Amino acid sequence: MKRVALVTGGTRGIGFGIAQALAREDLNLAVCGVRDESAVADPLKTLRSLGAEVLYGKCDVARRDARDEMLAAVRQRFGRLDVLVNNAGIAPKERRDILEATEESFEHVLRTNLQGPYFLTQAVAKWMVEQKKGDATFAGCIVNVSSISATVASVNRGEYCISKAGVAMATQLWAARLGEFNIPVYEVRPGVIKTDMTAGVKEKYDKLFGEGLAIQRRWGTPEDVGKAVASLARGDLPYSTGQVIMVDGGLTVQRL
Ligand code: NAD
Repeated sequence: MKRVALVTGGTRGIGFGIAQALAREDLNLAVCGVRDESAVADPLKTLRSLGAEVLYGKCDVARRDARDEMLAAVRQRFGRLDVLVNNAGIAPKERRDILEATEESFEHVLRTNLQGPYFLTQAVAKWMVEQKKGDATFAGCIVNVSSISATVASVNRGEYCISKAGVAMATQLWAARLGEFNIPVYEVRPGVIKTDMTAGVKEKYDKLFGEGLAIQRRWGTPEDVGKAVASLARGDLPYSTGQVIMVDGGLTVQRL
């Protein structure tokens, strides 16, 4: 039976890039997002055309009941879960200087980007341990998609930076906790990636990339991140649990 991956936010942007890469790796897929299934028919069709059996669930990762429902649907459809990719995430609705930013936005971003994925991981971790106990060959792994914002301070979206810094620690915590079960947990840390999330700042980054913002003078793509996650799901980095995999074209390499 094929291995199964759950990719949150897997029908758009980076998540869609990851889901396609995992379908090419011959995994079946559960993907979730906040849109109705009818609105994501095209990406689901693409994923199925790559040979994957695909389950879609409308699930806001910030909500516990929605997460529980999603996992129950995965259990019912596939009876297993081998790879969890915590990809879904949001930017603040409005970029505001931290002197002016609101507590409401802080709560919303933290709940979506950190608290939801943290507790989704908790539920999945318990299920993975159960699977490992039932089958010693079970090769599960968990991947958190963070951002260079985990370490690069942007004062016009502090809540986003803090959420991603939290994801970095969550990765280390889950890696430490699941070590005895040989379930690796990784953080994939993208730089600036061309998606809907960054569509509003396209001109700014076109210019910055042209001026050498990153060592590799181009935007990152969902495919770049997908390839990194596929290699982790394949088990190509078996002795690297808890580590950060940079996918930023060298943007964070300090230069003088
Ligand atoms: P995007 O906005 O293009 O896509 C996000 C996806 O997540 C969508 O499918 C959306 O439906 C889903 N989603 C949003 N909120 C959700 C929720 N509450 N529950 C479930 N699904 C939800 O964003 P993207 O650029 O593809 O970003 C994906 C991830 O990568 C995010 O965690 C983001 O922080 C991170 N990231 C993005 C960039 C970038 O430059 N685009 C850089 C570094 C990290």
